Amino acid sequence: MTACSFKKYGTYNYNLSLCKVLEDPRGGFVRVHCHHCRDPMCKAACPAGAIRKDEATGTVTIDQMLCVGCKACTYACPIAIPQMGRGLKIMVKCDLCKGDPECIKVCSSRAIKLVPREEAERLVGDMAARPFAPATAPVGQAVKP
Ligand code: SF4
Ligand code: SF4
Ligand code: SF4
Repeated sequence: MTACSFKKYGTYNYNLSLCKVLEDPRGGFVRVHCHHCRDPMCKAACPAGAIRKDEATGTVTIDQMLCVGCKACTYACPIAIPQMGRGLKIMVKCDLCKGDPECIKVCSSRAIKLVPREEAERLVGDMAARPFAPATAPVGQAVKP
């Protein structure tokens, strides 16, 4: 996941990564990342109109020229994805690397996939039905609205 911080800040620093990997108490690991939600709560909470959802790709992004750094998006997001940018007083979040996700390119075990939302939901449903998730189970990241 440090590939994310390198792409965004030019440094390998897990704390600056816009996605995280945590241990799953059932076994293996789970990746925590922006889901580019159908109806993003971060967008609804933003008083500055700084968060947009691209209807063609489904990608949810923050316009840093409009952000006033109030953190309402972080509090509204169910998994607190938006974070204060390093050295900035504005928010940053995953933007899917503008359509070319670095984290997917560097994952040697191919555990991360960029798939249509319907397929992501099916994958998540399959994983939730298992008593123990294998460490290399594919994690769907939905992009289509
Ligand atoms: S930041 Fe949170 S609420 Fe906003 S699109 Fe990502 S997961 Fe959804
Ligand atoms: S921190 Fe920025 S993007 Fe987040 S709710 Fe406030 S103005 Fe909007
Ligand atoms: S798609 Fe890009 S910004 Fe999003 S988590 Fe992966 S490397 Fe980071």
